[in-house]
Amino acid sequence: MNIVTIRASSLAELFDCPARWEAKHILGMRMPSGAAAHLGTAVHASTGLFDQATLDGAPITADDAAGALVDTIRDKNAEVDWDDTDPAAAERIGLALHARYCAEIAPRQHYVGVEVACERLEIPELGLALTGTTDRVRTTEAGFGISDLKTGGRAVGTDGTAVTAGHGPQLGVYELLAEHALGVPISAPAQIVGLNTGKTAAAQRVGTGEIESPRAALLGTEDQPGLLQHASRLIHSGAFYGNGKSVLCSAKYCPRHATCPYKS
Ligand code: SF4
Repeated sequence: MNIVTIRASSLAELFDCPARWEAKHILGMRMPSGAAAHLGTAVHASTGLFDQATLDGAPITADDAAGALVDTIRDKNAEVDWDDTDPAAAERIGLALHARYCAEIAPRQHYVGVEVACERLEIPELGLALTGTTDRVRTTEAGFGISDLKTGGRAVGTDGTAVTAGHGPQLGVYELLAEHALGVPISAPAQIVGLNTGKTAAAQRVGTGEIESPRAALLGTEDQPGLLQHASRLIHSGAFYGNGKSVLCSAKYCPRHATCPYKS
């Protein structure tokens, strides 16, 4: 069986619309990054710099690290479809979230890895190779656990808890990759660090949420195949059907939209 590579961040998309996943990840059809995704990249850059400095024993201030956010947002080489968002507004939201992350979240975390680029993890019996970068690996009383930063307009509920729904498959892959890369067992619940990208200060919430052992659904049991087995069957059958009911079924998010027979 040939080996097909799956990025952790794309696994949920494979099940949401296999035809869109094929277009982006097998056929190499690309789209400019949306404003929301670009803001996410920028916040990852600045918070990553802040946490790495702490981990290295040479802490920097939140203000010092914020420069990475501004540089990423203003990067002339990044292909971004700003649509009706203005880069200055995105920068303001990003800076507010970066400051809140550094003040409210980072001090409570005990990171042992920042942006852990995991080696390719091959699963030959499924014909799959998993890749991806795990945002953070942390220590807790329950052992090592992974943390994933999520930005978005619905990342944190009004109760201050990060939304975890739908992120299980991706976090499960990060757990496998982190174990493989660092050689430590991951036994604590997976954590989402949510950064809510609202326009007002009240909506710019940060918070955390947990998913207990997301690997279980991924790997399945003897009686119940896991998501990775389903992914393997789907990919190796080549039956990349479309899902016109996907919330991302639009010209804005799908490179196949113009010609796709499945779109609604
Ligand atoms: S147009 Fe819709 S159904 Fe077709 S591939 Fe894209 S998301 Fe899927």
